[in-house]
Amino acid sequence: ELSSKLCRDVGEVIKKLMMLGVMATINQDLDFETASLLATEFGVEVLELPPEEDPTEIAEIEDDPSSLVLRPPVVTVMGHVDHGKTSLLDSIRQTHVTSQEAGGITQHIGAYKVTCQGKKIVFLDTPGHEAFTAMRARGAQVTDIAILVVAADDGVMPQTIEAINHAKSANVPIIVAINKMDRPGANPDRIKQQLSDYGLVAEDWGGEAIMVPVSAQKKTGINELLEMILLVAEMQEIKANPNRQAYGTIIEAKLDKGRGPVATVLVQKGTLHIGDTIIAGIAYGKVRAMVNDRGEKVKKAEPSTPVEVLGLADVPQAGDVLVAVDEKIARAVAEKRIAKRRTDELMQSQKVSLDDLFKQIQDGNIQDLNIVIKADVQGSVEALRQSLLALNANNKEVRVNIVHAGVGAINESDVMLASAANALIIGFNVRPDGNARKAGESEKIDIRLYRVIYEALHDVEAAMTGMLAPEY
Ligand code: GDP
Repeated sequence: ELSSKLCRDVGEVIKKLMMLGVMATINQDLDFETASLLATEFGVEVLELPPEEDPTEIAEIEDDPSSLVLRPPVVTVMGHVDHGKTSLLDSIRQTHVTSQEAGGITQHIGAYKVTCQGKKIVFLDTPGHEAFTAMRARGAQVTDIAILVVAADDGVMPQTIEAINHAKSANVPIIVAINKMDRPGANPDRIKQQLSDYGLVAEDWGGEAIMVPVSAQKKTGINELLEMILLVAEMQEIKANPNRQAYGTIIEAKLDKGRGPVATVLVQKGTLHIGDTIIAGIAYGKVRAMVNDRGEKVKKAEPSTPVEVLGLADVPQAGDVLVAVDEKIARAVAEKRIAKRRTDELMQSQKVSLDDLFKQIQDGNIQDLNIVIKADVQGSVEALRQSLLALNANNKEVRVNIVHAGVGAINESDVMLASAANALIIGFNVRPDGNARKAGESEKIDIRLYRVIYEALHDVEAAMTGMLAPEY
């Protein structure tokens, strides 16, 4: 490629490279420095192009403060299991959607909007800090306010503390809902006492944390809770510019039999319109239809509006950023992202190695530990094979498979086999030859050499149980 750009013969270019001390082959990538040095040798100047702009990054650019208008707060409900997160979300939905709005058939799309005192609040339908944190790990922050549910008859529990820490680390204000107030054993003071140990001091105890006693089951205190959300939202000045290209986050996505890829988007900035070209992760398309949380078709979605979007060609992932982009670049950007994801995956699909075997087992990536054995004599090959297979008796997570065993030095074909089978190679009293060594490096094959059978067994067993000492 470079030689054709330089209008030179490939051989000439490679020769010049060798003179520069770079032993390159015809299909090898050169870094910018090498390429420009080489070009200078031919009297050609090389310029580095700026990296192409990613529309997502452009969309992340801050809006002018004067363009911002208030938008409804987005709320996530967190707390310990069984403290009533789901019940609370249900009772908010029942009291503030169905009864107050005509024809309010709620549709589960991953988020819903309620109205209180004429103002809107959006609730994310997946409670718990796991979903919240999974989104954050993908770079998406959609939550403005966290509701921490604590059962009044129980108390602060491990997941309560986790939720507090997750909300704090995301800088999201917390409102405490002391739930199950209808229960005979309800003791809100004890909850307040316990929460104060974690920096949440109730207002009536001289602190700043808002705590609202509620009963999700009896539907009491719900209005008060919503009012507090609006109060906090007002203090936070939650705003967005509605007049710009849409920017949002995928909160749910699935492949629907009849409708194709369906994604729920929470629009965060700008307004999403029917007909907009959109890209979310590696999926792109044109907005064909939008359905809100009441199951109604809508033509546009403004900031803090969750809508189901139809028209993407693929199913994006929850946490993917969605942006409306120029039609011309959508495909190119998506293709670039797909290519990047592939190389990322390739990098990750680094072959099995004893050092990270246990992690791969735990991650569920590996059920079979494939091994290629090479040894100096047939007796050793058999001894290794038998004793490695015997490890299977004590281990249920992973099964040792001998994909190949033979006498002689480790050669290139052993390496290629190991690469194809995602195997590691154990050499006993043998070494890899030159080609095998090179192939092993480029194929990222773990080649282990031993002179004592026991040590080989010990390493494999230790790796299977996560006890392998790191190599220095
Ligand atoms: P989650 O695991 O936090 O989502 O908790 P759930 O909403 O599933 O509630 C757990 C259990 O507590 C269920 O049996 C609910 O019926 C019950 N529950 C939830 N809220 C209340 C409440 O306010 N009062 C009473 N008495 N029970 C409740």
